Amino acid sequence: MGVTRFLNALLHPARPGLEQGREQPSRERSDQLSERVRRMLVTTLYAQPSSLAIGALATVSAAGVSAWIAGLPELWVAAVILGMIAVARVVAALGLSPDSEGNSTATLEMVYEVGAFSYALALGCTAAFTILVGTNAEVVVLMVANALGYGIGVSARNAGRLTIAIGQLALSCVPIALACFWVGSIGFIALGFTILLLIPAMISIATNIFKVLRDSIAAAETSKKLADKMQILARTDVVTGLANRAGLNHAMVETMMAVEDDTCLALFWIDLDRFKEVNDLLGHPVGDRVLNEVAKRLRSVSPEGATVARFGGDEFIVFCPITGRKDAERLASEVHAEIMRPFRIDGERLEVRASLGVAMLPEHGRDADTLMQSADLALYHAKVGGRSQTCFYDSAMSRDLVRRREIEDELRSALQRDELSIFFQPIVDLETGRIKTFEALVRWFHPEKGELRPDEFIPVAEETGVIVTLGNWITAQAARVAASWPEEVTVAVNLSPLQIRAPGAALGIKNALREAGLDPRRLELEVTESLFIEDNHATASFIEELSEIGVRFALDDFGTGYSSLGYINKFPFSKIKVDRSFVSGTQVGRKSDAIIRAVAEMGNTLGMDIVAEGLETIEQVQAVKDAGCNLGQGYYFSRAVPDYLAAMLLAQEREQEGRKALG
Ligand code: C2E
Ligand code: CA
Ligand code: CA
Repeated sequence: MGVTRFLNALLHPARPGLEQGREQPSRERSDQLSERVRRMLVTTLYAQPSSLAIGALATVSAAGVSAWIAGLPELWVAAVILGMIAVARVVAALGLSPDSEGNSTATLEMVYEVGAFSYALALGCTAAFTILVGTNAEVVVLMVANALGYGIGVSARNAGRLTIAIGQLALSCVPIALACFWVGSIGFIALGFTILLLIPAMISIATNIFKVLRDSIAAAETSKKLADKMQILARTDVVTGLANRAGLNHAMVETMMAVEDDTCLALFWIDLDRFKEVNDLLGHPVGDRVLNEVAKRLRSVSPEGATVARFGGDEFIVFCPITGRKDAERLASEVHAEIMRPFRIDGERLEVRASLGVAMLPEHGRDADTLMQSADLALYHAKVGGRSQTCFYDSAMSRDLVRRREIEDELRSALQRDELSIFFQPIVDLETGRIKTFEALVRWFHPEKGELRPDEFIPVAEETGVIVTLGNWITAQAARVAASWPEEVTVAVNLSPLQIRAPGAALGIKNALREAGLDPRRLELEVTESLFIEDNHATASFIEELSEIGVRFALDDFGTGYSSLGYINKFPFSKIKVDRSFVSGTQVGRKSDAIIRAVAEMGNTLGMDIVAEGLETIEQVQAVKDAGCNLGQGYYFSRAVPDYLAAMLLAQEREQEGRKALG
């Protein structure tokens, strides 16, 4: 049994029965702490090697002086041995740093132990020798005092490693006590007993010091661990286990500080398309599982060193080093592919898509904030541009944003400041050339920016909700103007899906008609296919309520959206407007011609009017007429014009007809 184990056994005797059982958990707990705590305690042994040197110098010189006074060669030998051990220990203490990871705690402890024990034993034996040989009293006092002083002092110093402290105490004192008893004189026997009493007293003191040390180190450890744990929790998203906003910020700063100046980093901002529907239709638990699965997939495609975070709701961020634009494009398409892979949740197949905005450092921003803003803007463009796609940041996006913000700010006051007006574009009967309808198209004449196209401000109005007020105003204006036209001419007004879904939408239209005194049968509402993507109760009742009083509905921009014919049967459309991309777009050809023919045929069978939009040339007019369209609209006939010009066009028509009739 080694000295340490012997002392350990002495210090922690196995206790029988219940007590042992009670002892166990706390021992286990202290063992769990032990490696780091032990390391810190061992570090205290190596602190201040100078104290080691001073102590050694004192004892070695005491031994030297004793040898000189007593003239005993054995004491010279002892002085030399003590000196050698002392030098070896100081060298070891200087050479082995407890701060270095390479030195294991066990090695550090063993090296110290060997030095400490051999030194204590040598000193104790030297003092005992002076008693045994009965030399000069001065020499005995010098050496015994030295050895006892060393044993006591060192046991307090090294209380951090109790076994070492007690070992040193015992090895330096016990030989003296034994020598005292061996000599057997009353004085020495009394000294022997004193020493034997001294040992447990010192053990008790050292044990107390040790406990205080251990507990305070352990407490510091525990609170540090707790603080670490809290910090990790504060930076983690509870649903997916990914980093959260705080975690991402932290990781971004760390990454940006760690990489070299010329490293390229990319931030992918990922937004799941229509995720709200998953949540609404299937419930939040399913939504959470989808988010978890997405998180797992994102982690699997992200390169090493990437930070993957969930940014609230259905938005995720991947931030990672890349080699360049190509690399970022490749990763973006991998992200799409992974997210699009169908999910299986409770046996149900679920498909999710995502839009991606990407910004790169240093190209699109030099700090975390700018990079985030750039990626956010790019994401916005990806979503507006039709979702399920990737957009890389471009500086034009920032300019767009500024313009959008300005429009947003000014749109509300534009109505009051009378900057908006309605223009009318004729829809013409291709057979007779007569104007059947005017489509009302809104115009904004901005005092500084000039004329703004509806494509620019209608989406902003939709996003901000201003479209409801704006839409009601447009309908009211258009109805008022139309009331002054001949009976058979109708007016068409465009409606945004948002406007239709707003509460009281049908009532708004009815009020406009009543105030203008316009027959509901002379109003046509143009809606797009996007209205029917969601099977919405409000939409159906809006159409039903207004159809009942005679308002007609036209399906606008046909062919650009989902082009599902299901809702043509379901809702009472009186007109289909074939989008101008089929007439004057880049893809015009045999295929588009065939589509127009098919739609026209269907319209004729169902008794619907078919309008060809965007007619600019006589050839186009001829072509759509041949294909079976009965109505046409476009610059060939007229641009959208102000109300007085629309009235003039109608008057001209009447005049010509009057002349024809007369003539
Ligand atoms: P839209 O309903 O398809 O309206 C037809 C658009 O095509 C109009 O553009 C019109 O000026 C343009 N256009 C007509 N003939 C031709 C042609 O021969 N060639 C070409 N290249 N274009 C032609 P505008 O007025 O800029 O309106 C754009 C879109 O803005 C409209 O498309 C409509 O979706 C929306 N919009 C316009 N006014 C309103 C409105 O009052 N309310 C709502 N909700 N949306 C509106
Ligand atoms: Ca329209
Ligand atoms: Ca249209």
